[in-house]
Amino acid sequence: MKRIVLKAGKEKSLKRFHPWIFSGAVARLEGQPALGEAVRVVAADGSFLAQAAFSPHSQIRARVWSWDEAAVIDATFVRRAVQVAAQRRGSATVTRLIHGEADGLPGVVADRYEDSVVVQLLSGGAELWREAIADALAAQPGVTNVYERSDADVRTLEGLPPRTGALRGAVPPGPPVGHVAIHEPASDTRYLVDVVGGHKTGFYLDQVANRARAGQAARDADVLNCFCYTGSFSIAALKGGARSVLSIDSSGPALELARANMALNGLDAGPTDGSQGQQAEWLEADVFKALRELKAQGRTFDLVILDPPKFAPTPATVERAARAYKDINLLGLKLLRPGGKLFTFSCSGGVSADLFQKIVAGAAVDAVVTARIVARMAASPDHPVLLSFPEGEYLKGLVLQRD
Ligand code: SAH
Repeated sequence: MKRIVLKAGKEKSLKRFHPWIFSGAVARLEGQPALGEAVRVVAADGSFLAQAAFSPHSQIRARVWSWDEAAVIDATFVRRAVQVAAQRRGSATVTRLIHGEADGLPGVVADRYEDSVVVQLLSGGAELWREAIADALAAQPGVTNVYERSDADVRTLEGLPPRTGALRGAVPPGPPVGHVAIHEPASDTRYLVDVVGGHKTGFYLDQVANRARAGQAARDADVLNCFCYTGSFSIAALKGGARSVLSIDSSGPALELARANMALNGLDAGPTDGSQGQQAEWLEADVFKALRELKAQGRTFDLVILDPPKFAPTPATVERAARAYKDINLLGLKLLRPGGKLFTFSCSGGVSADLFQKIVAGAAVDAVVTARIVARMAASPDHPVLLSFPEGEYLKGLVLQRD
């Protein structure tokens, strides 16, 4: 069998069950494995460490399938892993079904939206076993179609072209075409999810618990929801009894869907003309600029939500991302009334919870604001984190209360 032989000392992380083999740890490759092919990873002394999927172009040269030398990595192995991941989610029909490494399927992400599953195949191994993964997802009780959204930037790092389209069954018929209507039981909220054109798989299931918390904090509050996407935090706030919600996003289509989602829940989305004084107010704008303008206008809020996109997609961008996080948090804190709450998030894997807290603390100093941490937030439990792979814990958030 083809092998990756590690440099002396580089076996340590694998012995702690960390599932990635970086290119710098590789002493030599024996044989010529194809993209995604399973290889044996051995220490410098030749002892077996793991079986892993080979990625010739990626800095992450291989990702572990199994720690068992006897395991056979084939379609049956992959189908079984999908089945086990699905079983972990019980009977939930709106849930993350597969969460990559944490479910033993590196590079595979799948979200279930009622009868539809949206899958992202983001590594060589995931790509090689595409059909087996699709079959296993389509075989889940109640699933009628599987749609592929393998168009994330990380595919490029793997040397894989983007690919999207129906993988099993038809494109979700909508209406509108490509959209799936879901009901989120935890919040009794309905959403339309754009699985074809939306971000990632179309919706952010990782924020379910945090939205509920924001809803609870929104009673009688004037709320500012930045990076609102399709309106989930805005809806949670209104359902929680907010006096008003100003929602900001730079994407016109996202705002349109956010308004439709409000209507779907019997909430009044108000006029589209950006007029103020409405319960639901909308701003199609760059948040960085909009926050400065709101400050200049003297507006203040009881609850500010900052859930930006991943500012640091790679380790090299962490420093620039830190400045961006600091900027919006500084402005967000300035817009808070005394006693008001800030819900602030980072979904950058490269920004640890520790670093994020430091950035926010720095923002408060510069804003000349004192505040306390009243809660720490993470992704919902259907986005599990492997104890041996803390990098998997990408979403972190703080609830701050201004003095
Ligand atoms: N909070 C949302 C998810 C946010 S995703 C939810 O829970 O559903 C990030 C959003 O930020 C996207 O909708 C994107 O359009 C928007 N965005 C990215 N950069 C932006 C910017 N500079 N100003 C305003 N919106 C931005």
